[in-house]
Amino acid sequence: MFQNKKIFILGMARSGYEAAKVLAKRNNEIVLNDNNENQDKNHIKELESLGVKVILGSHPDDILDESFDYLIKNPGVKFDHKYLKYAEEHNIKVINEIEMAYHLLPKGVKIIAITGTNGKTTTTTLTYEIVSHAFKNKTHLAGNIGFPLCEILDNIKENDYLVMEIGVPQIHDFYDFNPYIGVLTNIFEAHLDMFKTREYYNENKVRLFQNHTNKNIAIINYDNEDAYRITKNIKSTKKYFSSNNIIDGSYLKDDIIYYYNEPIINTKDIKLKGKHNYENIMCAIMIAKELNISNDIIIDVLKNFGGVEHRIEYTRTINGIEFYNDSKATNVTSTQIALSSFNKPTILILGGLDRGHSFEGLTEYMKNVKLVCSLGQTNKRIKEYCDKINKKCIVGDTLEEAINNAYNNSESGDVILLSPACASWDQYKCFEDRGTEFKNIVKELKEK
Ligand code: ADP
Repeated sequence: MFQNKKIFILGMARSGYEAAKVLAKRNNEIVLNDNNENQDKNHIKELESLGVKVILGSHPDDILDESFDYLIKNPGVKFDHKYLKYAEEHNIKVINEIEMAYHLLPKGVKIIAITGTNGKTTTTTLTYEIVSHAFKNKTHLAGNIGFPLCEILDNIKENDYLVMEIGVPQIHDFYDFNPYIGVLTNIFEAHLDMFKTREYYNENKVRLFQNHTNKNIAIINYDNEDAYRITKNIKSTKKYFSSNNIIDGSYLKDDIIYYYNEPIINTKDIKLKGKHNYENIMCAIMIAKELNISNDIIIDVLKNFGGVEHRIEYTRTINGIEFYNDSKATNVTSTQIALSSFNKPTILILGGLDRGHSFEGLTEYMKNVKLVCSLGQTNKRIKEYCDKINKKCIVGDTLEEAINNAYNNSESGDVILLSPACASWDQYKCFEDRGTEFKNIVKELKEK
């Protein structure tokens, strides 16, 4: 398969580049097209030296014709793109980089594919940590998490384990892809710009399980109405997790996470905080149990896993004051989740790019917040909001000022949480840079 064929790659990015390399080595004739001409110059040179025809800057009408066998589409390409319409009308199969790479995997590779609206990266990373501890040098990480499958294809050997984060736009172009274990963390309203209706979005989620038989495992959020409903008729062996109900599956009761009535770990021994994270943990435990991984390994990883960078990430404890970096919280909903995750007096560092959005949505979640330290373009609007709800607020400008204001007013037992409810672009290139600066400043803080 994928040998001596004519293949059109729509969208360069990293996955298009990696796919082109894999296909070029297999003697295929390849055209790669992207309307963005700002691509890595070395990558272009390398592809051209492998015989790939790279066409950048526009989508000319005459570069796709009936002679192509496949069109490999980047997940970001809109469904009504003219090339996709042409491909459909002329029987050119449209797939994506993962679907293509799937066909080139060695025998017996066990794929664990994690999808859902929220929690994908956390669940995927945690699962990878556990599985790679159990099966050293035999576990790989790929997908939406920043590593195209094509990039690591050559490292994967027969019977290895492959942990993948999968986004819905990727599932849309799956036909044969069949994970041994599929996970659906939850479904909330999202991607409506692309999928138009919620039904179509849901329909695409469930396609992750479309090739399952009862030999495959589906791990599903029992509490999430949509996730539960749309997976009712899938053929997989279904297993459920719940943070609200005691069920036949994994559940949370009196701060202990259970796997089918077997207590696994007390949440006080876990660095990850928040019910949403306990759900992510339950998914990871259920996967590990399916792979017969021992409790010792699972517990060891859970005790040490500080979270994925910038997502309620444990940073440091000084004088009994815990610091958490949740720079990924660029909107009020994410900050609500972060605030719900702590049952301790909290100093909240809030603010950033001003999109004119309201902070009112935080009010219900502020009961543990003893002080707000504002920063960025929204610093004064946050003070006005705090005055209205009778919360103390110290106005700062930079992140460093906000951290110092928070630290100087904290005491043992407090949590200092950066969860800004705003994008970072008023002062930073991206939320990652803001989170990294937070961690650097916190690391330098002297004991009181
Ligand atoms: P994704 O990869 O799906 O975007 P992440 O693991 O990166 O998810 O988490 C992003 C944010 O989504 C977190 O900071 C948190 O606010 C929220 N979140 C994480 N896990 C869950 C979950 N299981 N349920 C609901 N919200 C979650």
